[in-house]
Amino acid sequence: MTIGSILLSVALFIIFIGYLARPFFIKEQEDTPRSRRLDLLAQKDQILADIQALDFEFETGTVSEPEYRQQRYFMVQDAALLLRKFEQSLPQKSMSDDEIDAKIEAAIAKIRGIEPTGIEIPCPECGAATKQGDKFCATCGFNLQEGATA
Ligand SMILES: [Zn+2]
Repeated sequence: MTIGSILLSVALFIIFIGYLARPFFIKEQEDTPRSRRLDLLAQKDQILADIQALDFEFETGTVSEPEYRQQRYFMVQDAALLLRKFEQSLPQKSMSDDEIDAKIEAAIAKIRGIEPTGIEIPCPECGAATKQGDKFCATCGFNLQEGATA
């Protein structure tokens, strides 16, 4: 076998593998319908409301601390999953787990009436209070950075 024929074989092999793997690399371009996004937000809000209710139960001594911590952990995971699905349904963006956790905690703090420190700006889309520096509205997902430059 000559070097040339080996290289040709390798090249053909790579092309073949690339062809087989093609469906995995094609980026999903389909737009998630707005109704689907709103559905994700509604589910997330429901979980946040459940977390708020659980916090209240814990504060009033209705639920034991181990149970509270366990339940809250799973609820926060669920909310993070929904929020991540929602973020992924929006075009060209990704958030780190830390950012998502921070967003969820901020959302919980907000519905509990504990306003996070910092300057608050109403979301141009839905009017909910957003923190200065936030990239997206925690309530409706509006791109605040885009809105700020407009
Ligand atoms: Zn909003």
